[in-house]
Amino acid sequence: MNLSIIGAGYVGLVTACCFAELGHKVKCIEKDSEKVKMLKKGSIPIYEPGLEEILKKNIGKNLFFTTSIADGVKESPVIFICVGTPQDRRGSADLFQVEEVAREIARNINGYKLIVEKSTVPLDSHIWINKTIQRFAKKGVTFDVASNPEFLKEGSAIEDFMKPDRIVIGVSSERAKKILLDLYSNFKCKKIVTNPQTSKLIKYSANIFLATKISFINNIADISEKVGADVNVVADAIGVDERIGRAFLNAGVGYGGSCLPKDVKAFIKIAESAGIDFKILKEIDRYNDERPLMIVKKVKEALWILKDKEIAIFGLSFKPNTDDIREAASLKIIPQLLAENARIRLYDPVAELQFRKIFPESEAVRYFKTPYEAVEGAHLLLILTEWEDFKKIDINKIAGLMVIPIVVDGRNIFPPAKMKKTGFEYYSIGRV
Ligand code: NAD
Repeated sequence: MNLSIIGAGYVGLVTACCFAELGHKVKCIEKDSEKVKMLKKGSIPIYEPGLEEILKKNIGKNLFFTTSIADGVKESPVIFICVGTPQDRRGSADLFQVEEVAREIARNINGYKLIVEKSTVPLDSHIWINKTIQRFAKKGVTFDVASNPEFLKEGSAIEDFMKPDRIVIGVSSERAKKILLDLYSNFKCKKIVTNPQTSKLIKYSANIFLATKISFINNIADISEKVGADVNVVADAIGVDERIGRAFLNAGVGYGGSCLPKDVKAFIKIAESAGIDFKILKEIDRYNDERPLMIVKKVKEALWILKDKEIAIFGLSFKPNTDDIREAASLKIIPQLLAENARIRLYDPVAELQFRKIFPESEAVRYFKTPYEAVEGAHLLLILTEWEDFKKIDINKIAGLMVIPIVVDGRNIFPPAKMKKTGFEYYSIGRV
């Protein structure tokens, strides 16, 4: 098929590259001309394992980049909207990017188009896209608006896209249903075909449920700490029950990233506009917002006075295998440590460049190329992301390089007994 993908962010770029790899002819439209320049040269503006290889293989053959929506719309009968839907000041999803794209599509529509919402959008947005196109397009144009939410995870995005657990398709016409089922005909997973509202409710429900699991286990971790229980053992034991499942039951610094925090807040507003006060979700949101403070409290309990203390931090992105720092715990924790006049020594395998844009190097904030350099002369090591490489680190060497061997492990990556035996004062989450 001839496809247009609008937005070359984490979702759009993966979607464009993967569809091209599957043999479709893809035009990827990105507003940011610097990104387009980079992509045309075969390099990707984000860190996503395996993506650059697929880009290089398909560029100029099946995959083309442009800044012009007009080009893409005219050539492709199927258009995916993959732009951002950030949080607005009140917590709702801000749809200005989606609306702008809808107007641009309307101005360039030249025959039947299927416009597919891949971004995470509120339940009535397809109605608004429909209205916007009717208002700004020439009279008599034919088009459908469908929903096909994306469930990929940053860090394993290609695998998630190519072998999804399920494909959700929300349509209002047989024509749209046929096109999307044809497009995904070679995917062997379960396909759910429903109306657009249900399709988008599935996406939000998945994300708010995952957020709920994380806040739930973090609450259990708080109790574990008070009573001398071990939250990991609890998670393993309840996780074997298939009604519960072990995934997303890792106690830690709370959920972050570009999806869960904003989607939880947006869904509270969606529920409100439907007249529902989703109290459990409000509490999950409040509790998670306060989670970074709990880490700062642990650091202070360990060090007492933070002034002039050297604090090494491993992991700046919101999770491993990505350079995405949106809503990462590090962004909330570091300003608090700096406010107490601590000096910060940062190490992250891939997110340093992104982080430097917000925290430039200074006397109080320094970046290091290896974890060992970061801990040299440190009074405390704080772990904020569970990269596999951190788990394999030589802890004897770390202990030897620090002024005082104290670790606050915000992701429970080390066994407490081993850390204590190595001579660390070791604090983790919900374990003794
Ligand atoms: P992103 O911010 O990384 O990318 C959005 C891209 O769209 C940006 O590059 C931006 O410049 C571009 N853009 C904005 N307006 C444009 C326009 N008029 N024309 C062309 N390009 C334009 O966002 P993302 O992380 O890829 O997320 C996109 C959507 O997918 C969001 O709704 C998000 O909630 C959802 N989602 C994200 C993930 C994820 O893991 N990141 C997973 C599933 C769903």
